[in-house]
Amino acid sequence: MRLASDRTAWTFACLVLAACGDPPEGAESSAPAVPAAPTRVVLVTLDTLSADRLGCYGGKDVATPRLDALAAAGTRFERAAVPMPQTAPSHASLLTGRYPLSHGLTDNWHSLAPEVDTLAELLLRRGVETACFYNVFQFNEANLIQGFRKQVRDSSDEARDVVPKLLAWLDELPAEKPAFAWAHLFIAHTPFVPPEPYKSRYVKHDFAGAADFSVRTRLDLLRGAGLPPNYAEEFLGLYDAEVAFLDQRVGELLDGLEARGGLARTLLLFMADHGESRARETLGLHAFVATQETLRVPFLVAGPRVARGRVVEELVENVDVMPTLLEAFGHDPVALLGELQDGRSLWPLLAADAVAIGEGGAEPRVAFGSLPCAPGSDAAPAAPELLTAWQGRFKLVVTRKEGDEQVALYDADADPQQRTDLAANHPEVVRALRRRIDDWLADTRARSATAGPLSRAGQQMLQQLGYGDR
Ligand SMILES: [Zn+2]
Repeated sequence: MRLASDRTAWTFACLVLAACGDPPEGAESSAPAVPAAPTRVVLVTLDTLSADRLGCYGGKDVATPRLDALAAAGTRFERAAVPMPQTAPSHASLLTGRYPLSHGLTDNWHSLAPEVDTLAELLLRRGVETACFYNVFQFNEANLIQGFRKQVRDSSDEARDVVPKLLAWLDELPAEKPAFAWAHLFIAHTPFVPPEPYKSRYVKHDFAGAADFSVRTRLDLLRGAGLPPNYAEEFLGLYDAEVAFLDQRVGELLDGLEARGGLARTLLLFMADHGESRARETLGLHAFVATQETLRVPFLVAGPRVARGRVVEELVENVDVMPTLLEAFGHDPVALLGELQDGRSLWPLLAADAVAIGEGGAEPRVAFGSLPCAPGSDAAPAAPELLTAWQGRFKLVVTRKEGDEQVALYDADADPQQRTDLAANHPEVVRALRRRIDDWLADTRARSATAGPLSRAGQQMLQQLGYGDR
């Protein structure tokens, strides 16, 4: 296994191929388990979906049978991180393999520099058909759909046309043409418009006031008089109803793919761009919150060569998707991306013929997070700068505001809302992770691209979503 650099030192070296006897039919004979180039890859991003709402992640409140079944049919990553809880920067990391401080899109209010290579651009140049299907205008404006030959935008709130249009595109493809499709389902994000029967099933408290659940309204309420009675209950009920409806829409996609060769034909990845904040004091304000509720996301992979029913405990990140998919199409991500990439291919964890034998000697991985990191750049001017480092059981959170810096340490698994500061109990962990954050900042900022301004139309869209004025 080649190493991209010291910062991406391979911590999965502990994983080896099953070495006894002949390799399984169709398997590679040497590590790592590089799959044969799949005909089709479908990447689905699920906006604002917290891992703990899904049954396969232990959630008990919402019925998510289709995503749960997909997890059983493939590999589920128990600890998957995104680097920022905002839609455009997180998707930019997914689509470039680089942290926001490296690709330069450090908030929702800018656009990705055209010279930053995306997965779709690299694949398109190498003969892969590419298409994207989405219903959020922001992706055009943030320059995140560069490299997709076909770009289909569905203007409905329910993303009702995303799945049918993706399936229709697959039907039009030449049979053996390699293809990469990205579909974005903007359902569990406000505005909430869950259809029946989901709304009645999950909304148990009727909020008597004007049911305005926009980000701006919640910011104003939380900074002022607080939330009215039943506001939080209705918000959370509507959110769960949207999650249940999202699962149905995922089921439509899975049924459509099943009719087109199913998982034997298509490599399928589902990942959220961030979760939602359920804490009452930051209710629904995921874009300004860097807790485990927002930075730990569901991540499921299924399809050719992928282990069925595997649960991976190792920490992975959304920047890993790009090298994983480059490798899936037969390309060497290290050769293509060099020192710019922050991710690593996940095939040693995904491949059905790889066997995990435990952690090796390398230091466990750290997943870094940041918010907003460009002073004055976010829509909530009073928000502090946050830097996070998640490693194993612990997560360090550095908060900087007006020249002051505070650090806190949390149990990353047991305390997702980050209520209990453990820093005093583990000073050595605090020191080590604080150093890692400094090294990471120096490294990423030294190779950062410069984002461009967001168009006026893109700014208006964000304002309509309630993210306020610049
Ligand atoms: Zn989002």
